Amino acid sequence: MLDAEFFRRWLAAVAALVDREADRLTELDSAIGDADHGSNLRRGFTAVGAALEKEPPATPGAVLMLAGRQLVSTVGGASGPLYGTLLRRTGKALGDDAEVTPAQLAQALRAGVAAVAQLGGAKAGDKTMLDALEPAVAALGDRTESFAAARVAAEQGALATVPLLARKGRASYLGERSIGHQDPGATSSALLVAALAETAEAAA
Ligand code: ADP
Ligand code: MG
Repeated sequence: MLDAEFFRRWLAAVAALVDREADRLTELDSAIGDADHGSNLRRGFTAVGAALEKEPPATPGAVLMLAGRQLVSTVGGASGPLYGTLLRRTGKALGDDAEVTPAQLAQALRAGVAAVAQLGGAKAGDKTMLDALEPAVAALGDRTESFAAARVAAEQGALATVPLLARKGRASYLGERSIGHQDPGATSSALLVAALAETAEAAA
């Protein structure tokens, strides 16, 4: 079972990975965007960590909803509302349970990813964060061991954005020139999933 502490550890692991990879995320965003993705997410997940520490929520759902609200108010850009929606919608789907099963989390994340697609109007293949998130949630099953498979799927999805033409977001303004570069949002989404797998491994 996964409790609120597990979710706080997951978000702390995301913050650590984002901090480590911020320069790379910004570099990817400088090729097909405006060079702010790493700093945007570093600011956001630092704020998430501070908020969770100040008043640790008691349930997994409340942890994710608080984190999502922090991302919306601190990240800005396209990715702030999108990641905020992912976490808030996932948290809402988890409800008030003090502990959730991996299967519940998988189902809630699928709802969260669907909400991202609805908000941003993107679909798989548009060269966005969905190219990592959709394969990841498809790989999630009802055991924590499946988190490792989701991590691999997200990383492969992020790599597979390189040859794609961007059809959503700032990168789409570049048209054909967006081809040949890895999408920054798909790359950061793979970090979120990697952090989940790491957290599950550490808890096992
Ligand atoms: P901005 O583009 O406003 O500077 P960021 O640099 O923080 O925002 O984030 C850019 C990332 O957001 C992109 O790499 C892409 O993955 C994601 N993104 C942009 N628009 C959309 C959308 N409509 N749907 C899903 N993801 C999107
Ligand atoms: Mg940007």
